[in-house]
Amino acid sequence: MPVRRLLPRRACRRVGAWVFLDHFGPTDGSAMHVPPHPHIGLQTVTWLLEGEVEHLDSLGSRQVIRPGQLNWMTAGEGIVHAELGRHGRAHGVQLWVALPREAAHGAPSFAHHAALPEVVRDGARVTVLAGTVAGATSPAVTHTPLSAADLRLDAGTDLAWSLEPAHEHGVAVLEGEVVVAGHALAPGVLLYLPPGTPAVQLVATGPARLMVIGGAPLDDELVLYWNFVARSREEVVEAVARWRNGGFARVPGYDGPGLPAPPEPAPTLRAVAPWGPSEGSP
Ligand code: MN
Repeated sequence: MPVRRLLPRRACRRVGAWVFLDHFGPTDGSAMHVPPHPHIGLQTVTWLLEGEVEHLDSLGSRQVIRPGQLNWMTAGEGIVHAELGRHGRAHGVQLWVALPREAAHGAPSFAHHAALPEVVRDGARVTVLAGTVAGATSPAVTHTPLSAADLRLDAGTDLAWSLEPAHEHGVAVLEGEVVVAGHALAPGVLLYLPPGTPAVQLVATGPARLMVIGGAPLDDELVLYWNFVARSREEVVEAVARWRNGGFARVPGYDGPGLPAPPEPAPTLRAVAPWGPSEGSP
C-alpha cells in the first residue's frame, strides 16, 4: 500500500502537537491488517476517504469506521489496538497528537464520532475533525489548542482560507492538485505555515481535497520511537520492555500474535525540541 509520511520529516518535525501524519492509499485489494500493538503518550486520529476499517482495542472497544467518521484514541499511559481493513479498498490518513506532559500518563480512552460538523463556504465543503474551524467545533477531546479540517474544493475554487494566527499550520493535498499560497501541491507534500499567518490562498482548477492541520507550537522535547511518544529514552526503553514482557493489556476478540517488539533504541536516542538536530529514530 502506498504510504506518504508527511510528519515527522527532517525539515518539519511537528505542527503544533501534531507529530505524525501518514496518508495511505488509495489502493484496491490489499486491505490493511495491523495486528495488536501498543501506544503511549499520544492520541491517534483515523480519518478515511474510502474503505472501512475495524478498530479493536484493549478497553474492549470494537468499532467499524467509514468515510466521514472519526476515530480518536487516547493512549495516555498505554493502550493496545488492532486495525483491520475491510472490503479491500483503503484511502485515508492517520495522525498522532503528542499529549502534553500533564496528560501523557493519563487514562486511555477511545471515542468514535459518527458525524462531524460541516461548513460550506466559497466552494469548499469543510468537515471539522479537531478544534474550531470556520466557526464549527469538533467534539473530539484535545489537550492542547489544535485544529484539523478536511476541505473538499469544487473545480474553480479560489479561496482565502482563514487561519488562527497564534498557531502554526500544515496543508496536505489528499486528492487532486491545489495551488496553496502560490505552491502547486499534489499528494505527498506538507506545506508548513508558521505562526503569524492570518490566511492562506487555495486555488483549485479541478475538484480536490486537502487537509489543514494547526496548533499552538509545542516546545516540549519529545522522543518518537516505534508507536511511542515519550519525553526520555528511559521511558521508551521501559515501554519496549513492557510490550516484550506482556505488560500491556490484551485486545479482547483478536486471535493471533501482536506486532513484534522493536529493538532497544540506540543509546544516542534522546528527546528533542521541534527544530533541534535529528533524533535518530528509525
Ligand atoms: Mn496504532
